[in-house]
Amino acid sequence: MKKWVYIICFLLIFVIAIFTGKYLYNYFNKENDNTVQNENYYPSEIEVNDEYLNEVDTIQTITEEEKISPNAVLVLKKQYIECGHTIKEYSQIPEDLVNLNKEQLIKEYPDWEIDNFSSLEVDLLKQVEGVCNEHYILRDNEGIITVYKINNDGQEVLFEDTGISTEYLTINDRMKIEEGIKVYGKEELNSVLEDYE
Ligand SMILES: [Zn+2]
Repeated sequence: MKKWVYIICFLLIFVIAIFTGKYLYNYFNKENDNTVQNENYYPSEIEVNDEYLNEVDTIQTITEEEKISPNAVLVLKKQYIECGHTIKEYSQIPEDLVNLNKEQLIKEYPDWEIDNFSSLEVDLLKQVEGVCNEHYILRDNEGIITVYKINNDGQEVLFEDTGISTEYLTINDRMKIEEGIKVYGKEELNSVLEDYE
């Protein structure tokens, strides 16, 4: 009788052990399956990577966003509609523009277009009516070659009495000067006047 009890107990433990073993085997296999699935689940991985990359992009955009340096140069470019010339004015960046980014600068200069934006140089462009201030015209004023400057609105204003007499010019030159010789820029003006001296 005692022997039977031992056998039953042994069988019971054996069966429990098998079930427990099977259960544990299944349990761990499932976990392993999950791990394998995750590793091979490309879409999820790509999504994660994309999100990560987007995040990195955003961080880089923020850190790399250019701001105006205190040493920057401000270039104001005025493009004159009538003559088509662009006149550039260079100056040190005004203090209130230092550390602004592009968007903030646009708000400060609503009438201007940003032509170039970097931490060390900011170029602003604007279209302006009329002609630029680099236009001159040479005329004969009572026998003397006289330089007039053409105003923004096209009016001629006395600029310089050269003291050069038109008397000794060739007929051709005299005819030209009577019509008015248009000159662009100081350099050309000086070179033309040198020819007549
Ligand atoms: Zn011009």
